[in-house]
Amino acid sequence: MPERPDSAAVTDVHGRPLGQLRLSVTDRCNLRCRYCMPEQNYEWLPHDDLLRYEEIADLVSIFTEAGVRKVRLTGGEPLLRRDLERLVRLLAANTRIEDIAMTTNGILLADSARRLRDAGLGRVTVSLDTLHPERFLELTRQDLHARVLEGIRAARDAGFPPLKLDMVLIRGVNDDEILPMLDFARELGAELRFIEYMDVGGATHWSGAEVVSRQEILERVASHHGSVEPIPGQGSAPAQRFALADGSTFGIIASVTAPFCRDCDRSRLTADGQWYLCLYAARGIDLRGPLRRGARREEIARVIAAEWSARMDRGAEERRATRSRGPLIAIEALRQDPHLEMHTRGG
Ligand code: SAM
Ligand code: SF4
Ligand code: SF4
Repeated sequence: MPERPDSAAVTDVHGRPLGQLRLSVTDRCNLRCRYCMPEQNYEWLPHDDLLRYEEIADLVSIFTEAGVRKVRLTGGEPLLRRDLERLVRLLAANTRIEDIAMTTNGILLADSARRLRDAGLGRVTVSLDTLHPERFLELTRQDLHARVLEGIRAARDAGFPPLKLDMVLIRGVNDDEILPMLDFARELGAELRFIEYMDVGGATHWSGAEVVSRQEILERVASHHGSVEPIPGQGSAPAQRFALADGSTFGIIASVTAPFCRDCDRSRLTADGQWYLCLYAARGIDLRGPLRRGARREEIARVIAAEWSARMDRGAEERRATRSRGPLIAIEALRQDPHLEMHTRGG
């Protein structure tokens, strides 16, 4: 059974508590990663629809009354949202929240790491798919690899607990960097997490042949390092963790070949206040509407409790059972509803 962060937490049909909330604070991004935003043009959320920081904090406080204890800022690129530390301060004032984290591409981190830490940000995960600047340019369409490395160093020096580095593996693109990235993370004192390339929203060029599976990652690591021991106690965390003989650790997020929906206590709030109960959900629940119409907190709390209690989603497990698997959503559908994009609902 999933961990229960709070006895008062609302649970869904499968007994999974409402525990973690990912806040996508913007759908915009300063990179164009080929597995997330491969197209030339995108439809952006209308500016007036974006929740103000006070509105986000209000909604989060209702979520925390329903059981949420962990909040992660994401996007798009969260650091593109101006004065993000102001949101962090508002969230840090909510004493029910035990953990405020952020996932970022790191480009703007060098300038903001210390301010965010001082404001109360607890942990940082930086996405880094390669150690080669020219490959970074191919993968992201921006020549900004050095800025990311600078951001990573700044976050380490700002006094955060050990960083996490997330690396999406794509066969033939960066799967020759499994071992070098492990060395890089160990030297930095960070924990690397390999992510299987997923067929989510924006991944319009996804193919199963490009996925490097957990099994294969483990075999390649073991062929060099010898013993690779699983670390028990994954709980509701997406990554399964492993230890090497030298004591260093790493994780694998096997959303494609070994999904972890059974223990999933995560939901997502988009920058314009749509609440998604699963990364793969086709539709979200509009919370901005009631908030801006002046609905009472209890009314919004009732919507949240009712929707979560009826939640049955097991998106990644259902996808695994699909026979001929290709990109999840056709490009025409993505253009009509940007909420289907990974960069809109947050990874
Ligand atoms: N822009 C920030 C970043 O890249 O860290 C935060 C948002 S991004 C959508 C969050 C995470 O989703 C990143 O770690 C990214 O690598 C991951 N992601 C995006 N598309 C993916 C895909 N098709 N398969 C696996 N992970 C993906
Ligand atoms: Fe890359 Fe994150 Fe931007 Fe997507 S949102 S294009 S993963 S940096
Ligand atoms: Fe949770 Fe949906 Fe992801 Fe499964 S696919 S782990 S239910 S968000």
